[in-house]
Amino acid sequence: MKNDLKKPLTEIKGIGPRKSALFGRLGIERIEDILYSFPREYEDRRNVKSIGSIAVGETCMVTAEIKKVIKGRYVRGRKRTTRVIVSDNTGELEILFFNAGYLEKTLKPGQVYSFFGKVSGESEKPAMFHPGFAIYDDNDSGRKILPVYPLTKGLTQSERRKAAEYCLGLADDSMEILDESLRDDYKLCGIEYALNNIHFPEDGYKMRAAKYRLIFEELLVFSLSINLMKNLACCEKAIPPLPDDSEEKRFIKSLPFRLTEGQNNAVNEICSDMMSGKRMNRLIQGDVGSGKTAVCAAGLYKVIKNGYQGALMAPTEILAKQHYETFEKMFEGSGIRTELLTASTGAKKQKEIIEKTKSGEMDLLIGTHSVFGKKVEFANLGLVVTDEQHRFGVLQREALNSKGNSPHILVMTATPIPRTLALILYGGLNISVIREKPAGRKEIITKAWRESERKRVYEFVKSRLEKGRQAYIVAPMIDTGEKMNVRSAGEIFDEESDFFSPFRTGLLHGRMTADEKSRIMEEFRNGDIHVLVSTVIVEVGINVPNASVMVIENSERFGLAQMHQLRGRVGRSSEQSYCMLILCSDEEIAVKRAEVMEQFGDGMVIAEKDLELRGSGEFFGTRQHGIPDMRIADIIRHRKILGETIRAADTITARDPLLENAENSMLRERIYEIYGELNPGL
Ligand code: ADP
Ligand code: MG
Repeated sequence: MKNDLKKPLTEIKGIGPRKSALFGRLGIERIEDILYSFPREYEDRRNVKSIGSIAVGETCMVTAEIKKVIKGRYVRGRKRTTRVIVSDNTGELEILFFNAGYLEKTLKPGQVYSFFGKVSGESEKPAMFHPGFAIYDDNDSGRKILPVYPLTKGLTQSERRKAAEYCLGLADDSMEILDESLRDDYKLCGIEYALNNIHFPEDGYKMRAAKYRLIFEELLVFSLSINLMKNLACCEKAIPPLPDDSEEKRFIKSLPFRLTEGQNNAVNEICSDMMSGKRMNRLIQGDVGSGKTAVCAAGLYKVIKNGYQGALMAPTEILAKQHYETFEKMFEGSGIRTELLTASTGAKKQKEIIEKTKSGEMDLLIGTHSVFGKKVEFANLGLVVTDEQHRFGVLQREALNSKGNSPHILVMTATPIPRTLALILYGGLNISVIREKPAGRKEIITKAWRESERKRVYEFVKSRLEKGRQAYIVAPMIDTGEKMNVRSAGEIFDEESDFFSPFRTGLLHGRMTADEKSRIMEEFRNGDIHVLVSTVIVEVGINVPNASVMVIENSERFGLAQMHQLRGRVGRSSEQSYCMLILCSDEEIAVKRAEVMEQFGDGMVIAEKDLELRGSGEFFGTRQHGIPDMRIADIIRHRKILGETIRAADTITARDPLLENAENSMLRERIYEIYGELNPGL
């Protein structure tokens, strides 16, 4: 029954506080969570065989003891194979896993496991490639297909199965949130059937029907939440429409360069949004170095010239300071009063800025998101720009929305998100894409080097310094501690400063005070420091056009998104730039990533490769985008179903925009349960 679902696990027979705490470690707190924590795979006992009687080509299960685990070796560009020899009293079987080194710790000799999969005939001995497996557990219920759940120490598979069985006894169709006509239209099974068959399917067909329905449900709730947000936002006010006064064109003329076509289009879109009378919600997507700053500056200029204030939020203090300096220069002589507010702004100065912001004696406030807290009030905020949006959750944006009147909102990101997905992730946001880089930029030459070639890399760096250029060397950590196989920023700085002499080396990392950081950045920008050794804090947004070499140490420790961002720090002038990866591992994934970096320069392509390499790759990590974790659905893998649910959601909200009708009340309830109080205007 529906009401029982919220009850704690201790209500279940056989689960006391101790077991309940173990379930808690898996994120399972309530009866409902048991029902919605789905098996990671199934143990198929429909064809149980002894090893002596298995035939090549058949799919079966064997129960056998692990005799030996033979570790695989990484070979550059090749698969690494882990071999496991198992036996029962009728014979031996070889089990092979590819690129699954982690299993070498899990699978222990002496343990008895069930292995289920297809028997291969590729080697002379019978073998199974990548079978499913579970610790053998013989007190079973006579079922033929058993769920295999993730476990934690102290919790057994049979305890999880029993808990699921018990909770399924409480599930019934009062839990149904999809009404019958919708289920008919999209051929979805009912919830009771779905839950029973996702946990204890009788056959593969029923399991797939159950799975489809549950994925559909989750994605529908997600799609509806976006429609609901949009519909709530429609009711919002905006500041009055700005006049068609060409202020932005005057600003653009004052720049020392000509805007690219993509930049021009983005500026036009922003300005026409702000002249429309509707509230702007726009995302600017442009790869690193495409010149997003100048675009937002044109918008800010126009708003400010019309008597409003502007705000620009950056994800780090270094970046906020850089923006402040850039804007001071760009807006020189325009009469625009700009202030920088960060956590390290002195108390007295902070107070003064806050007062000026409130009274309207200040036009453009630049800072880190943390400073746009409760204390800051604007006299008449007209436009808010957030830079490198992927660093912010939806929440910060919401906090800003509640500041005084309804300012226009502009979000800038270098995260390459395919358009369809961006529309979904950013809901009501309109999108401008800047495709090209400013004219005259050369491809950054990227190459991976072995650890043994490090000296050559450093010598090359020095040769660039001699030509008057600057360089970054990025390391995965500040100091090494126990992690002996990594070169830290501290070590590099200590060991290489002499080598680079007479050129000056500087060290930058997250544990320095804000003052120290900005002093080092200042010196690097001025050219007093030639080599900047740093942790990833230079990752986002830093713009020092004279720097033309990026060395990434221990590149195996960086993801593609990060490396692409880092590489974006160079190639910011017409000078030829270089990105040098020092790869200290043979691990397949690290080698592949390095190859992707060598071959591709376009962020969108890299994002796709990332996706291929690791499912919903880090580019799309939903957490980054402020979307709650999903239980069974994956917006990338299931994007086809997502297409269906978007269509279904549109039909529902066309009839009932705010989900107020009785037949949608369960859906609405679920949305609020998962997404909390939705704030209009995303
Ligand atoms: P990002 O999109 O990564 O934020 P920036 O706005 O920091 O890029 O711009 C990168 C560099 O390119 C800056 O030095 C900027 O002055 C310069 N720039 C921007 N637009 C143009 C252009 N149209 N032509 C030449 N240089 C440009
Ligand atoms: Mg930028």
